[in-house]
Amino acid sequence: MTYGMIATWRMAYDGVAEMTKELQKGKDAGDALVEAIKQVEDYPFYKSVGYGGLPNEHCILEMDAAYMDGNTFDIGAVAGIQDVKNPIAVAQSLSHERFNSFLVGSGATKYAKNAGFECQNMLTERAKRLWELRMEEIQKHNLSPYDGHDTIGAVSLDIHKKMVAGTSSSGLFMKKSGRVGDSPLSGSGFYVDSEIGGATATGLGEDLMKGCLSYEIVRLMGTGLHPQQAADQAVYQFAEKLTKRKGKAGAFSLVCMNKSGEWGVATNVEFSFVVATEHEAAEIYLAYPAENQTTRIEIASKEWLAAYETRIKKPLD
Ligand code: ASP
Repeated sequence: MTYGMIATWRMAYDGVAEMTKELQKGKDAGDALVEAIKQVEDYPFYKSVGYGGLPNEHCILEMDAAYMDGNTFDIGAVAGIQDVKNPIAVAQSLSHERFNSFLVGSGATKYAKNAGFECQNMLTERAKRLWELRMEEIQKHNLSPYDGHDTIGAVSLDIHKKMVAGTSSSGLFMKKSGRVGDSPLSGSGFYVDSEIGGATATGLGEDLMKGCLSYEIVRLMGTGLHPQQAADQAVYQFAEKLTKRKGKAGAFSLVCMNKSGEWGVATNVEFSFVVATEHEAAEIYLAYPAENQTTRIEIASKEWLAAYETRIKKPLD
C-alpha cells in the first residue's frame, strides 16, 4: 500500500502535500500528478510555469508539458502551446491517443481549444514587466538574454502500484520563438516505468537533452541501484563528461522515486524539491552537489522559506 510523490522546486509543495493525502485514499497516480502540477500552473507568482510564466523573446508565453503513464508507457506532450490554462491536462489527454500524441505550436493550441480545455491569456502584467526590465538590462549591459528558467517535474506512485511522471514549464526566459526544452521530451525531461520507478529533470534543457538523464536514472534503478545512487551516478558522471567534452555543463537537477517509494536527487546547483511518502510527511528540502559525486540534502530552513516568499512577490520597479 505504498504511495508517494516527489517534485522539483519549492513551488511543488502545496500540490504534493495535498495530493499525497489523496494518494493515500486511493487516488490514481496520474490524476494526482495532474492536480499537483495544475496548482503550480495556476499560481501567478511561480514565474516559470503556466499562468504568469516567463515569456519568449517577443514577450509571448510558449509552454511545454508532458505526461507519461508508467504502466502502459503512454506519453502525451505539447510544446510551444499558448493561452491554455493547464498544459499538463492537455498532455494527459494526448497520452490516450494512439497517433498524434505530441503536438507543437498552433497545432497544440488548436487541439486544446477544440477538445474544450480552458483557454485564457496566460501573460500577466508582472511577467510583461519582468520581460521589459530584462530587455533594458540586456541592452544596457550587453548580457546574454538566457537567464531564468525552472520546470515543475513530478513523479507519483499510487497504492495500485501505478507510477506516472509529468512536467510543465515556460522553458527558457527570452527563448527564441519555437524553442523547445527537455521538459516535453521523453527520456530527457521525464521517464517512468511502474515496474522500476520514475525520474524528472529541471535545468538547462539544451544540456539535459544531451544526456537523456531521466531515462538513465530509471535504467540504473532497474539494475538494482537505490534511487539516490542512480541519481548521483547518472547526473554527476554526465555533468563531468559534458564539462570535459564541451568545457561547461548547464544546471542539472533531477529527482526520482522507485516503485517502493524510495527516492533520490542529484544536482550541480542549489536546488529545492519536495517529497512525501507513506512514511514521510510533505517536506521542502534543499540539495547541493557534495564531494565524490554525492548530494547533500537538508530541510529548507524557515529563513530560506521566508526569503523565497519575499523574492517571488518582490515588487517590480
Ligand atoms: N528544463 C527547462 C527547459 O530548458 C527549464 C528548467 O527546468 O529550468 O526548458
